[in-house]
Amino acid sequence: MPCIYPKIYILLKSTKYFMMKAFKFRLYPTINQSNQLNQHIGICRFVYNWALNQKVKTYEQIGKSISRFDLNKLIPNLKKQNPWLKEVNSQSLQGMTNLVESAFNRFFREKNSFPKFKSKKIPIQSFLIPKHYNVDFENDAIKLTKTGKIKAVLHKTFEWELKTATISKSCIGKYYISILVEDGKEFPVKQVFSESMAIGVEFGIKNFPVLSTGEKVENPKYLKNSLKRLKALQKRVSRKQNSSQNREKAKQKLALLHKKIINKRNDFQHKLSFKLVSENQAMAFETPYVKNMIKNHHLAQAICDSVWSSFVTQLEYKSEWSGKPILLIGKFVPSSKICPVCGYHNSYLTLKDGKWKCADCKTKHDRDINAAINIKKFSLSDQNLIGI
Ligand SMILES: [Zn+2]
Repeated sequence: MPCIYPKIYILLKSTKYFMMKAFKFRLYPTINQSNQLNQHIGICRFVYNWALNQKVKTYEQIGKSISRFDLNKLIPNLKKQNPWLKEVNSQSLQGMTNLVESAFNRFFREKNSFPKFKSKKIPIQSFLIPKHYNVDFENDAIKLTKTGKIKAVLHKTFEWELKTATISKSCIGKYYISILVEDGKEFPVKQVFSESMAIGVEFGIKNFPVLSTGEKVENPKYLKNSLKRLKALQKRVSRKQNSSQNREKAKQKLALLHKKIINKRNDFQHKLSFKLVSENQAMAFETPYVKNMIKNHHLAQAICDSVWSSFVTQLEYKSEWSGKPILLIGKFVPSSKICPVCGYHNSYLTLKDGKWKCADCKTKHDRDINAAINIKKFSLSDQNLIGI
């Protein structure tokens, strides 16, 4: 798994009425403080695994799940058995039961994989601070209850209400804080749009987004090139002896390359999503498709390379912020298999077929462009919006 940490302030959740934004800042803890942060991360991981184990055990014993509220009631007792847990504030510990519950919800609702126990090898390690922290813009510092003031680079200021924060440690040992804030502004009202100014977006396999206008956005070359280098470095790591110094060195190199790739990819995605949102009045796409495709192993590499989900999230929140509608089409619309000219359904089309010719009206189609055209067409007619 690559370590993933976005460059800055992306964000994305919305409350019922107000916009939420996330800001990410680099932290520079002292040696003492970083020891404390590592200890926090370790303790939170311990509580996460304990909560997961409790869930599984309870289910085995009584056939029912234990809620996070009931888990939280068990935490004081857990602290008695393991006094070192007191080093971390209770809210961070409760944050872990929350995470376990969300992992289970995703497992049941979205058919995600069964929640896994967390190990030290997971590249990003983090813990949540629900409350009780301060941002000191004047002195470039973040104040946490247990560790005191930690030096930070606060390259953006905000005056909004602080919500939860997450402290994370990257795979190359850097510390970050992500702060979620509520800015008190309501979302802009959705604008009216014309059919000609709406685009359909298909997430192709070889290309980055493919648009209903016929435009295919190429995956940047540096990704292809660095992927080769990435594979070479991965091999190098696996050839070195376990827990040797050379293996550690190789791992560091690999982690650095991951970081570079992810930063560049984020930069590319932000520029592209900004361009698409500003140049169009409305956007249509299908999201569940991405998930299904990731399950297909042959495509996994190509998809991961493009990291659709973070891009889709960017399109969603940037549209939301500028009052532009996002139109989604139904889960089971066979967008790439239908001829937009005559409506013929090509049920023989497989994932390998990049081009096809309609058996009925003989029009030649590019698979991805055709899908984008259909996504636009179906999403507009779904909502009776054609002609607005
Ligand atoms: Zn046709």
